[in-house]
Amino acid sequence: MAANLEDVPSVDLMTELLRRMKCSSKPDKRLILIGPPGSGKGTQSPIIKDEYCLCHLATGDMLRSAVAAKTSLGVKAKEAMDKGELVSDDLVVGIIDEAMKKPSCQKGFILDGFPRTVVQAQKLDEMLEKQGAKVDKVLNFAIDDAILEERITGRWIHPSSGRTYHTKFAPPKSPGIDDFTGEPLIQRKDDTAAVLKSRLEAFHKQTEPVIDYYSKKGLVANLHAEKPPKEVTTEVQKVLSS
Ligand code: ADP
Ligand code: AMP
Repeated sequence: MAANLEDVPSVDLMTELLRRMKCSSKPDKRLILIGPPGSGKGTQSPIIKDEYCLCHLATGDMLRSAVAAKTSLGVKAKEAMDKGELVSDDLVVGIIDEAMKKPSCQKGFILDGFPRTVVQAQKLDEMLEKQGAKVDKVLNFAIDDAILEERITGRWIHPSSGRTYHTKFAPPKSPGIDDFTGEPLIQRKDDTAAVLKSRLEAFHKQTEPVIDYYSKKGLVANLHAEKPPKEVTTEVQKVLSS
């Protein structure tokens, strides 16, 4: 249920109104971000989301909330996630199908961490076909595995917003504290060098074929994800404006 609008401060209402007016002139976009863990998908997503008024659907974030809330989905997903393996296609397809119906996805979406198998990609195509829609672009966060351990082991996140920090590359103003809310940051249980190995194995075996799947459709744009965050943002903006 939406909050009673009379209780919402005027400045918030006006800000939201202005945002919606600006958004109404933006083209619809349906984007997929593919890349190994730590390649920068979660860092770039909020920037793209704000620029194009899209919703950001990160299956990893959704699964982690389900695990924390101990829902039946969370209970089913936990074991595979702890080991750095993929959870079953049916589980993630179900959550994406549901999430895409949100009003915030009206102008399109950024899928971050989905599809991760060719079966998921085929199921997504079927879902979109039913709505008369299709994927517009797939951003491939190409990066060498060797860079990822330092990125993953230094990552800190603010769970409720999904904001990401890094001890060396993107430090918060105070260590362990979210810049915007003052709430504590956490490290993910699977962000260790050992679990990263399984996650990378899953990426190469099961997710790289998804890049081929979309390459054949002419949808893939390759990014230099090893560059500093601002340079990656510039590359993303170039790809999306063309
Ligand atoms: P993903 O969502 O692809 O798993 P993140 O966006 O969470 O990756 O990035 C992983 C870690 O690396 C985070 O701690 C983030 O702050 C940091 N990071 C993201 N992009 C870059 C970059 N281009 N250069 C250096 N560090 C980065
Ligand atoms: P991420 O936050 O994207 O690194 O995902 C964390 C974990 O959630 C992965 O290691 C998988 O166990 C699981 N996961 C996230 N997205 C998917 C997906 N599309 N398919 C299968 N498992 C997923």
